[in-house]
Amino acid sequence: MPSLSTKPIYSGKAKDIFETDDPSILRAFFRDSATAFNAQKKGEIQNKGKINASISALLFKLVEQTGIKTHFINQVSDNELLVKRVTIIPLEVIIRNIAAGSLCKRLGIKEGKVLKAPIVEFSYKNDELGDPLLTKAYIINALEVSDENTLRQITNLALKINELFKEFFLNVGIKVVDFKLEFGFDKDGNLLLADELSPDNFRFWDAKTNEKLDKDRFRQDLGNVEGAYEEMLKRVKEGVNKSSIQPQVNILPSFLVRVQVLPKSDILDPQGQAIEKALMSLGYKDVKNVKVGKEIVFEISSDSEISAREKVKEMCEKLLANPVIEDYKIELVVKNK
Ligand code: 5GP
Repeated sequence: MPSLSTKPIYSGKAKDIFETDDPSILRAFFRDSATAFNAQKKGEIQNKGKINASISALLFKLVEQTGIKTHFINQVSDNELLVKRVTIIPLEVIIRNIAAGSLCKRLGIKEGKVLKAPIVEFSYKNDELGDPLLTKAYIINALEVSDENTLRQITNLALKINELFKEFFLNVGIKVVDFKLEFGFDKDGNLLLADELSPDNFRFWDAKTNEKLDKDRFRQDLGNVEGAYEEMLKRVKEGVNKSSIQPQVNILPSFLVRVQVLPKSDILDPQGQAIEKALMSLGYKDVKNVKVGKEIVFEISSDSEISAREKVKEMCEKLLANPVIEDYKIELVVKNK
């Protein structure tokens, strides 16, 4: 597994991005910090990092199962995802099903109006300018950050993802009001869904009560912010269990473990001696120092090879070997990345 460098190459409002020893793979660390209104409001939402990393992992896997490519590789710890390195297109792709937020402000429409059809809009990802709304011509001819073909692909993907999420969440009593996506190109030129998929960049309302279960609770000081995020993780897990599409998220990498246990060299080994004698009598006179031990094989999940080795060592000391009279040797092979 790629190791973690200590200095982030990028620090966003809620995530730190680290390089790994594979230049095409990055590690995204989800923090508990929260911002709103272009970072004018700042705070912390307890456990948000863990919750958002887990929700993102499950939802990225769901998207991948429909054949849409994403940057997601794996969740490697509570707060961290391994992702493919992409060059982010500096556009916020916003999909709306129900009027809320900036749409209501801009158009004077009442929050909650169900839109005649889903809307896909683009904003410029630029904090200094306050993420202004863009037209296609602004993107292609003024900013020159994308082209007609890519925008068409992004729009189609955004609408497909919206249909997937609307159905997935309705199944667990949640309305997807709106959300923000980001896309990027990997080193081979593939267009990938990137960033995160969490209550930080979605508006989720309870389908029965219209209770807000997303970052609007923080933006609007509605209280019980952490409870809302936890509730969303619960619903996503429920959705995954119900869904015909089963994301098989490897929460942690697994390792194949082989433990070899042998009597220490200065310990009497009657079984070894018996075999040595028997071999001698069969004419194998050049055999010596026969030891009889055991081999134990199993799989283990852990966030790194080092921690997996530590756990296995502990098992050897406690159960698998008798450290007073036996030596043990641990071999670890990564099963999945
Ligand atoms: P609005 O344009 O109404 O403020 O936001 C529409 C949707 O996109 C909401 O679900 C909101 O959470 C998300 N969104 C818009 N801008 C940002 C942003 O800068 N960061 C994040 N994380 N989400 C955003």
